[in-house]
Amino acid sequence: MDRIPELFGSLVFNDETMKERLPKDTYKAMKKTIEEGKSLDLSVANVVANAMKDWAISKGVTHFTHWFQPMTGVTAEKHDSFISATQDGNVIMEFSGKELIKGEPDASSFPSGGLRATFEARGYTAWDPTSYAFIKDGILCIPTAFCSYGGEALDKKTPLLRSMEAINVQALRILKLFGKTDVKRVVTTVGPEQEYFLINKSDYLKREDLRLCGRTLFGAKPPKGQELDDHYFGAIKPRVVAYMKELDEELWKLGILAKTKHNEVAPSQHELAPIFSSTNIATDHNQLTMELMRKVADRHDMACLLHEKPFDGVNGSGKHNNWSISTSDGVNLLEPGKSPYDNAQFLLFLCAVIKAVDDYQDLLRISVASAGNDHRLGANEAPPAIVSMFVGDELEGILESIETGKPYKGKSAGEMEIGVHVLPHFRKDTTDRNRTSPFAFTGNKFEFRMLGSTFSISGPNLVLNTIVAESLAQFADELEGAPDFQASLKALIQRVIREHKRIIFNGNNYSEEWVAEAEKRGLLNLKSTVDALPLFISEKNIALFTKHHIFTETEMHARYEILLENYGKTLHIEAATMLDMAKKDILPAVASYINELSQCAVRKASVSDTMDCSAEKALIARLSASLARFYQEIEALEAALIQAEEKADPRESAESYHDGVLAAMEELRRTGDEMESMTAKKYWPYPSYSDMLFSV
Ligand code: ADP
Ligand code: MG
Repeated sequence: MDRIPELFGSLVFNDETMKERLPKDTYKAMKKTIEEGKSLDLSVANVVANAMKDWAISKGVTHFTHWFQPMTGVTAEKHDSFISATQDGNVIMEFSGKELIKGEPDASSFPSGGLRATFEARGYTAWDPTSYAFIKDGILCIPTAFCSYGGEALDKKTPLLRSMEAINVQALRILKLFGKTDVKRVVTTVGPEQEYFLINKSDYLKREDLRLCGRTLFGAKPPKGQELDDHYFGAIKPRVVAYMKELDEELWKLGILAKTKHNEVAPSQHELAPIFSSTNIATDHNQLTMELMRKVADRHDMACLLHEKPFDGVNGSGKHNNWSISTSDGVNLLEPGKSPYDNAQFLLFLCAVIKAVDDYQDLLRISVASAGNDHRLGANEAPPAIVSMFVGDELEGILESIETGKPYKGKSAGEMEIGVHVLPHFRKDTTDRNRTSPFAFTGNKFEFRMLGSTFSISGPNLVLNTIVAESLAQFADELEGAPDFQASLKALIQRVIREHKRIIFNGNNYSEEWVAEAEKRGLLNLKSTVDALPLFISEKNIALFTKHHIFTETEMHARYEILLENYGKTLHIEAATMLDMAKKDILPAVASYINELSQCAVRKASVSDTMDCSAEKALIARLSASLARFYQEIEALEAALIQAEEKADPRESAESYHDGVLAAMEELRRTGDEMESMTAKKYWPYPSYSDMLFSV
């Protein structure tokens, strides 16, 4: 195991490699760019590019790519070789600063929501020096942002970087008020916990639904599910251990801090968590982690399922987004601290988050909205679609005492005056009991638990960064000119708690009572993606994003359109796949089985008139009735699909997919599953839930 430190980051052009391979002044210029977000001039870029190329060639690399994250949710690459022709007909290996900094992939086949008119197919990629270049599959990958020629963001990285800048600016203003003038930069940090399923590749390949949609569209409940709770944290099976070991090694080579791994609640479900890093890097790393999870599974004859709900009736997969704010020197600003003064600063940042989550519940909900995640949120396994916040009883008691001025009645009772008294120490384990909360304070960070497992974490984090930046901006506006800082601070914190405490809920988020209570408190309950998305372009949200230069209004409308379209397209593919399976596989299979039963009954009767054929007859009758219904439901789904397709308006179309197509799919599935439970296994065209969930 002493090879791990050597292995770690071996495929990354990281700080250590740069220090080793760059001239001192180039290294310094690079460092400044990375740490302070300064731009890099071409002469420096040339030197960096050359060093990067030599390093890559020493590892057997011949090609490079600008690696970017278009709105499709997966990463994109276009490979170019380092080869350059010389006058005398030979080749040399070259890589210029210009090629490093800027690329021009054809943008026409990526979604743009109308931003890039078809005659202007070009877009460009721009190097993001804050995320290290790395080698993947023998290709030098350069993390880049992707924009249209007009400079509009066409990807997930650009707005995320803009939001990092927004929160940096506002947090520095606040820190200054507390006398912290030496802090250079504030970043947000993220550690995403990633859930996934592993099944046999042979089973995966036999299922059109898994191959095309990532989730099963048919499948009767297995005799055993997760009721015994024997999987969670249980012993990991040898095949999975081997998989996890190789995955860890691959991730370590890329400098990804894969740390914990364990079994999850559902059979065949697992989790991987990395050590946190800056949000931008964590986002790139999570994309790579998902890609490698799939690849390594393939090498182990398994398929890794990252869909939010691969199996109906079995726990789905999410992604817990642990988030905090930190100075570039690594001081966590959500750490309560030990002195009254630090506590006051902590309370102000805490209040910024409380206010942000309350003011922008809709944006947080939208940031986790997708066709896949709709199967989880509110389904008693994941947080509900209602956004609320858990702070724990102790911290809630403290906030209450601050608001009312009454003594705090917790374990360590006493006065609680901001800037005068020390916060009672609340241990981490008392803050993280509630697993049902969508947004929980866990001692020194927040855990946003509504994300779906396939998500890029870019969206939720750019929302978090921006909404907290807005709270901080308002606080700074109010406090900067205040004659008596302490008094104004106290008044502000008291007011924020009073105005926003409705968002705090420490109880069971899965309960019916909470739904009613949340409604009483005036909290939003946006049940589906289709309910949530339209709020994205509300006046208040446009004002927010344009104020902090995250999106222009045009970019927001484009994104809104892409999100609606993605929803419709996902459902379209699912419905079409279901119809294909129903007509080509399931219907013929059931018909063949009915035929066998009928022949059997006829032959038995030919042996003797009095032969008992009641079982065959009963089964034939039941299957025939189901099959007839199944056929009607196929027709109904086809009709619903046509109706949704015909809607020209993206919002109306999305609604039609939700109300018409999805509902028809559910009906068809119910009948399909019913027939599966009555049909002989040898006739059923697909591996069953038991086959898939209990065989790896
Ligand atoms: P928990 O017990 O609450 O699950 P862990 O310590 O196991 O907490 O951490 C869970 C995840 O949270 C890990 O990915 C970890 O790196 C991440 N994390 C811890 N501290 C921070 C922080 N300050 N900012 C962002 N993520 C963090
Ligand atoms: Mg956790």
